[in-house]
Amino acid sequence: MESETLRSLWWHTTEPPPQTAKLSGGVEAEVAIVGGGFTGLTAALHLAERGIEVVVLEAETLGAGASGLNGGFVVPNFAKADSAQATRRLGEARGRALLELVSRGAERVFETARAHNIVCDAAETGWMQPAHNEAAAEIARARVDFWRSLGRPVEYLSGAEVTKRTGMARYHGALFDRSGGTVQPLSYLRGLARAAIKHGATIYEGASVAAAVRQGDRWRLDCSGPTITAKTVLLCTNAAMSGLGRRLARTIVPLPVYQIATEPLPPEAVERIAPQRVPVSDMRGNIFTYRLDRDDRLISGGMSLVPLGAHQRVGQAVADRLARELKLPDVPRVDYVWRGVAAMTTDFLPRLIEFGPGFIGAIGCNGRGIAMTTMLGEVLADAATGTALSDLPVPTASTTAIPLRPLAGLAASAALLQARWRDWRAGV
Ligand SMILES: Cc1cc2nc3c(=O)[nH]c(=O)nc-3n(C[C@H](O)[C@H](O)[C@H](O)COP(=O)(O)OP(=O)(O)OC[C@H]3O[C@@H](n4cnc5c(N)ncnc54)[C@H](O)[C@@H]3O)c2cc1C
Repeated sequence: MESETLRSLWWHTTEPPPQTAKLSGGVEAEVAIVGGGFTGLTAALHLAERGIEVVVLEAETLGAGASGLNGGFVVPNFAKADSAQATRRLGEARGRALLELVSRGAERVFETARAHNIVCDAAETGWMQPAHNEAAAEIARARVDFWRSLGRPVEYLSGAEVTKRTGMARYHGALFDRSGGTVQPLSYLRGLARAAIKHGATIYEGASVAAAVRQGDRWRLDCSGPTITAKTVLLCTNAAMSGLGRRLARTIVPLPVYQIATEPLPPEAVERIAPQRVPVSDMRGNIFTYRLDRDDRLISGGMSLVPLGAHQRVGQAVADRLARELKLPDVPRVDYVWRGVAAMTTDFLPRLIEFGPGFIGAIGCNGRGIAMTTMLGEVLADAATGTALSDLPVPTASTTAIPLRPLAGLAASAALLQARWRDWRAGV
């Protein structure tokens, strides 16, 4: 069966991979990072820049996880949680620090790309979230007021303005965040790896960590043969259930998400639906999203209730929806369909988890991971260099598995059905 990586558009339009290392004998390091996605590589880059001896252990190839398979929307806020949830969870001061952290995420992605000369089709176009009815518009206006109170470059667009910028007439208004945009995510990931290596990090691919054992004041990581010892371990394995990753993955709900890329659109369609190339994700329960890549392919996503034959089915359903919503003259041909697994936390906030002394996991970017992991990597680097977790602007959570986790897939399907039904009932 074709792997998801090869199915994805990104693997066919990416910058070349960096030169990584092959793990053979034993390795000693100050910090060992398990997982070579955005979280792990951003943490590695920050640590290497601070002169810390750091190794990254990636089970497969860089980009095999969500970081190489996502939609490339760079969005500086939470997908589901609202601002009050952050302050309720963390108290006023740390909650506000979390919100400030999240809100700066997109800028940080683009700054990082610039600072390290990462070629990743970075487009700082802003990001739009249209509201499908008056109740959603009310929420959007409240969110705009909140982010503006933090000094963020966020504004409310009228329905007419949304029509001008998307060609769609159905929306009542929209939140527009000027700091958002898009990247080619695999190129961004490879660029992060290249920058981390340049600053002294060592990255091993094909290094699956099976277990971590405490030995004196260090951790020994077992990697089917070779062992790595490190003072600090950062577990950045996201939703993966393999080996050591299980410890983190059992604390989240895994959500399979499909992405598609169509054939390139003709210039007149581009001019009508995205004259400023702004990525769009609306507020419906059954969310509608689209963006363009550098070749004017439409990229969008969806979920499936039944996994059997889902690539073809979801691919066609998403293309049909794109044609319907964007009033395209023809349903565009689907050139790529791929699937990734997003990690959802139960409160929709990111979190740090302490598995032992100096053994910290980070997770929970809830579908808004590009911006958030870029900030989370920096927070993890602070944790690895001595900042107490209680002083960091990210909630800590327990290592306990979610009860009835094996049924989580069913819960996700039920939530999707409910969202579709609610949207249908509301006529949106
Ligand atoms: C289909 C899809 C679309 C998305 N779209 C967007 C989007 O448009 N915008 C956005 O902001 N976010 C999006 N997200 C979310 C975003 O991609 C993630 O939040 C982010 O990539 C998570 O990064 P990460 O480094 O934590 O995890 P990952 O990228 O998943 O990396 C974890 C790595 O750990 C490795 N690993 C696992 N177990 C082990 C082990 N035992 N030993 C060694 N290595 C191991 C894996 O191979 C993997 O490479 C999307 C997610 C999906 C799935």
